[in-house]
Amino acid sequence: MTTKPGQKGIRFIDEYRNTELSRRVIERIYRRSTRNIHLMEFCGGHTVTIARNGIRQLLPPAIEMLSGPGCPVCVTANRDLDRAIALAHERGVIITTFGDMMKVPGSRSSLQEAKAQGADVRIVYSTLDALQIARGNPEKSVVFIGIGFETTAPTIAASILQAQREGVNNFFVLSFLKLCPPVIKALLDEGEVKLDGIVCPGHVSTIIGSHPWEFIPRDYAIACVVSGFEPLDVLQCIEMLVAQIESGERRVEIAYRRGVKAEGNQWALKQIDIVFEPCSALWRGMGEVPQSGLCLREAYERFDAERAFEIDPGPTIEHKGCLCGEVLRGVKRPTDCRLFRHACTPEHPVGPCMVSSEGSCAAYYHYGADL
Ligand code: SF4
Repeated sequence: MTTKPGQKGIRFIDEYRNTELSRRVIERIYRRSTRNIHLMEFCGGHTVTIARNGIRQLLPPAIEMLSGPGCPVCVTANRDLDRAIALAHERGVIITTFGDMMKVPGSRSSLQEAKAQGADVRIVYSTLDALQIARGNPEKSVVFIGIGFETTAPTIAASILQAQREGVNNFFVLSFLKLCPPVIKALLDEGEVKLDGIVCPGHVSTIIGSHPWEFIPRDYAIACVVSGFEPLDVLQCIEMLVAQIESGERRVEIAYRRGVKAEGNQWALKQIDIVFEPCSALWRGMGEVPQSGLCLREAYERFDAERAFEIDPGPTIEHKGCLCGEVLRGVKRPTDCRLFRHACTPEHPVGPCMVSSEGSCAAYYHYGADL
């Protein structure tokens, strides 16, 4: 029996890591590919899957895989990191954040260093944990650092709605939330990288669906396939991309049917829309991208840390020699950076791409520099 990922024959996670099935997909990719093909995996989760499983090395040499800006921690600009760190030093403020953010260096320090200097910075596993801290500390202002894409936004929106229902007045969100389609558009408009196909982000697409990617084949003639995060998911996605490119077709397909519907998750989208509105956002490596961020709507301004606090982060300083911006745009690889493995390691990161579990530099460091 021929079993393909997404068919009824595959139900368990082990099967998405099955060596024999993977070998068959790779053989089909070799048979179908006849030309140089440049693909970008947008999402840091895919970068890690590709690196951890040696997928780059398993593909025909003519298929080039570039990494994109899909790591929310990595794309957070120094200016915004500095604002979070400055806020951590405010009296009576408790900063709550996901663990990935702690070691990310801003211009002069990190949240971890702020904590070591006495700031009250706490790692949480969900926004509702942050809300619980607010309930338990009514005399303090509890600020959640809102880092993430469309995947994270619904849970942050839900925590704000919950805080409103309960009348929790000491809970705030510093929103650095970002939207993926506008930044892909900005990247393609920039034209720095030549792409034939994009491995579209699976988790983001569980929320927004596949329709928001349709501008990519339509306006840029680039193939798109939404992928899951297991090795077989990614390989099937690459196979589908190669099939589109070789046949001259360009469209959006979903290889991650068990997670993504074309229309997305309407309930989650509604939560986002109730609380947030699109606004301009600053991306590391990309600069200011219009309509690529999420800001709190006026109706929820009392939860907006931006409006509740005067934040003076001081002048922004970029990390000398760090190529994170170029790495995030796909124009450089981590190994092109002179600091990689020398001055910059996961223990002593110079840039965020070496800190985040989804960062390209960390993936190259952990799974091999010759990827
Ligand atoms: S290796 Fe370090 S310094 Fe170089 S681009 Fe990556 S994070 Fe920046």
